[in-house]
Amino acid sequence: MSSIPDIIIAVDGFSSTGKSTFAKLIAKEFAFLYLDSGAMYRGVTLAGMEAGVIGDGKIDEEGLRKIIGPLQLHFRQEEGNTRLYLGERCIETEIRGWDVSQYVSPVSAIPWVRNWVDERLHAFSEGGRVIMDGRDIGTTVFPNAELKIFMTADPAVRAQRRYDELVAKGETTTLEEVLANLQDRDYRDSHRPTSPLRQADDAYVLDNTHMTLHEEVVWMLGLLQGKFDLLDSPGLSC
Ligand code: C5P
Repeated sequence: MSSIPDIIIAVDGFSSTGKSTFAKLIAKEFAFLYLDSGAMYRGVTLAGMEAGVIGDGKIDEEGLRKIIGPLQLHFRQEEGNTRLYLGERCIETEIRGWDVSQYVSPVSAIPWVRNWVDERLHAFSEGGRVIMDGRDIGTTVFPNAELKIFMTADPAVRAQRRYDELVAKGETTTLEEVLANLQDRDYRDSHRPTSPLRQADDAYVLDNTHMTLHEEVVWMLGLLQGKFDLLDSPGLSC
């Protein structure tokens, strides 16, 4: 039986298409390290907000530049999950909040922020056997990734899924606000001059508008089987 070699799998796509849920599951099935590049941009944004250089609708780029150098953002593997830490503090919950989502796209459009994040993503991936999700993983961060997936779904379906998640977490927002935020992020992410979100030419498209997570994993197993001749695929755990 052949298994999946120590490759890099890049998962890119629009906001709230379920990239991280999908990538985490594949990571668990095939013992890959899962890395969430969006978490890094969210971490930089949170640190800027806490330092008072991001807020009131403004980003003080010079202020952000001063604090980013020594930022100790890193991932830790805990109980089978990859969590983002700022120094000794786990910031997984704070970075997913509504406030951070308002500022993260303009912060991630700053070229030197992208360089800073990319350097760290490369260092974290040194051992290989990584599945990383984001917007420019297959185009800029790892253009030679052996397998590239591009995820998309109808915006109304994405907004409803995201809204349900936020409400379950106790956030106060409306479906209209959530839809506007994800459309705004899609637009900014696709139109920025540095590393815009786009489908790599050699990416496989996964449109999950009408798919369950289970169906997505079955789709991925088919893809992996075709590519790596997996005779004995693992059972699905979802
Ligand atoms: O994936 P997530 O929605 O958490 O990412 C938050 C934001 O970070 C995105 O809307 C995008 O602006 C930015 N991002 C990026 N490049 C990546 C990953 C995320 O610009 N590779």
